[in-house]
Amino acid sequence: MRICRFIHPETQTPRYGMIERGEVYPLGGNLADGDLALEDAEPAVGLEGARLLPPVAPSKIVCVGRNYREHAAELGNPMPAEPLLFLKAPSAVIGDGGEIELPAMSERVEHEGELAVVIGRRARRIPDAEDPLAYVLGYTCLNDVTARDLQRRDVQFTRAKSFDTFCPVGPFVVTGLDPTDLSVRTRVNGDLRQSGRTSQMAFPVAHLLRYIAGVMTLEPGDVIATGTPAGVGPLRAGDVVEVEVEGVGVLRNAVRAPAA
Ligand code: ZN
Repeated sequence: MRICRFIHPETQTPRYGMIERGEVYPLGGNLADGDLALEDAEPAVGLEGARLLPPVAPSKIVCVGRNYREHAAELGNPMPAEPLLFLKAPSAVIGDGGEIELPAMSERVEHEGELAVVIGRRARRIPDAEDPLAYVLGYTCLNDVTARDLQRRDVQFTRAKSFDTFCPVGPFVVTGLDPTDLSVRTRVNGDLRQSGRTSQMAFPVAHLLRYIAGVMTLEPGDVIATGTPAGVGPLRAGDVVEVEVEGVGVLRNAVRAPAA
């Protein structure tokens, strides 16, 4: 199932919906309340009448650094012994088709195409007997846009990772995927820049979920960005960057110069 968020044309309020055959079927309940009703769809509204939003509205975005060996190596970093976590501001989220704005503060903004995990029900200290993947609603594409010069200068990552528009997510959240061996690719203006498989992760999705939920409560709708394969590189005004995750689809965003 492909899940979206959209503005309902009649009520003009944000809703979750299921996309099928070019139509949006509004879903009952609300993901943030943990009661999204996947089996309870209302009559369809046309895709053209429904203004699509980013498919997630997370309370937090938990990111994993250096989860692919070749990417850690290309930045000259050692592999961490445990997952290296950092946060990205939820206000940075944009959807498919939204524009990435280059900030005037940075001279080096880079793409990081990643598999993103969307939490379906509250997870806190997942018991050993439980499968961490049972807490997942679905998967989507995420571009962990990064001001690399500021990341180096600041040492910690908050500013470099959290400019407005620095978190494209989408186009949809796809349920029922097995995350253990999916291809993750990034293209800039059609040229392949990054190509990896989730099987190359140092810490796979189930391990990350258990680890992160041992640190902080994961709320429904929260997003985990699982790290980027090798091949990160610069984005310039006028570029179009695409992140494609096998089984999910393509997240496409144009890049524009800083607003004057
Ligand atoms: Zn990243």
